Amino acid sequence: MIRILDRARPDILTLRPYEHAAWEPSLERLHANEMPWRATEDATHAGLNRYPEPQPGELIQHLAELYGVEPRNVLAGRGSDEGIDLLVRAFCRAGTDSVVICPPTFGMYKVSARIQGADVIEVPLIKEQGYALDVERVLAAWNENVKLVFLCSPNNPTGNVLDRNAIESVCRELADKAIVVVDEAYIEFAGVDSIAPALQQFENLVVLRTLSKAYALAGARCGALIAHPQIVELLARVITPYALPVQTIEAVMTFTNSTHRADAAKRIKTILGERTRLMSELSRSRAIRHVWASDANFVLIECVDAQAVMQAAIGAGLIIRDLRSSPALPDCLRISVGTAEQNTRLLRAIDAIAATAGDAA
Ligand code: PMP
Repeated sequence: MIRILDRARPDILTLRPYEHAAWEPSLERLHANEMPWRATEDATHAGLNRYPEPQPGELIQHLAELYGVEPRNVLAGRGSDEGIDLLVRAFCRAGTDSVVICPPTFGMYKVSARIQGADVIEVPLIKEQGYALDVERVLAAWNENVKLVFLCSPNNPTGNVLDRNAIESVCRELADKAIVVVDEAYIEFAGVDSIAPALQQFENLVVLRTLSKAYALAGARCGALIAHPQIVELLARVITPYALPVQTIEAVMTFTNSTHRADAAKRIKTILGERTRLMSELSRSRAIRHVWASDANFVLIECVDAQAVMQAAIGAGLIIRDLRSSPALPDCLRISVGTAEQNTRLLRAIDAIAATAGDAA
């Protein structure tokens, strides 16, 4: 057993997992209490009357190829949200263990930890250095009960990629001590390589990838957790038995084939062009105090009057993300890069308030 697994919950390590109906496609199924007929007009390939294959072999192979790893490194789940939840449940004892997060960051790390009854230690990113990772403080925050460190790169909502050497230092220093989860939900927009090949060096590294962003499949709910095979095996004991719906499996297989990958690449290129336009036009607006450089498909802005910008967006029929409830992000909003027409509509609405503010001044 790899040493980092000593950090998992002892009761999960010894858990006898649920024995789902055996996957034997060559035999006719009278072992899962399913209906032998499809529902009328069920046009799926596999048939919705049948439970799906748990961790479908073809899908796992496909995701492994997509992300440049081995199939045994991949656990497929319902979005990266499920990967986050599985990690917290498998590693953190309620009331005893904790996770480290680096705010401002994606909210689900904290929520999943709290649901599990795990404590959350916050080590803020360094704002003055473009929201860089504070390696020293992350390492100093470790104690015997810290099981997971969540790093998000590119980080949501600040948009920046974390320094690769900094992430690797955390992995190295916390080898055998904590799992380092690197959430790469937005990496396809960043023009940098995934850290996944570093799995060869770091048994405590877990990488999260998602089909929700670059592949336009948020509604399909599918993500890949990429890790050492023994971590994948452990989490496969915890995941619900038939986690991925038939439609999800079929949608991912179809919409990430070579034709669709080429389409995805074109869409990403368009988003990057629009991101540049949004960033430069927002930077010129008198209604915006600061625009952070983004490596993702969204832009973080600090407004002179965030309420006015929210209202202007709504008035233009658009909703943007209000981040003001986050203490680290006063007056901040996050804009997902939309179509050229949507971005133009938003920019015009913001221009209009800037003009009004100018009139009043
Ligand atoms: N990680 C990050 C950083 C995110 O921003 C999101 C979604 N907003 C997720 C994970 C979850 O994505 P999904 O569950 O759709 O894969």
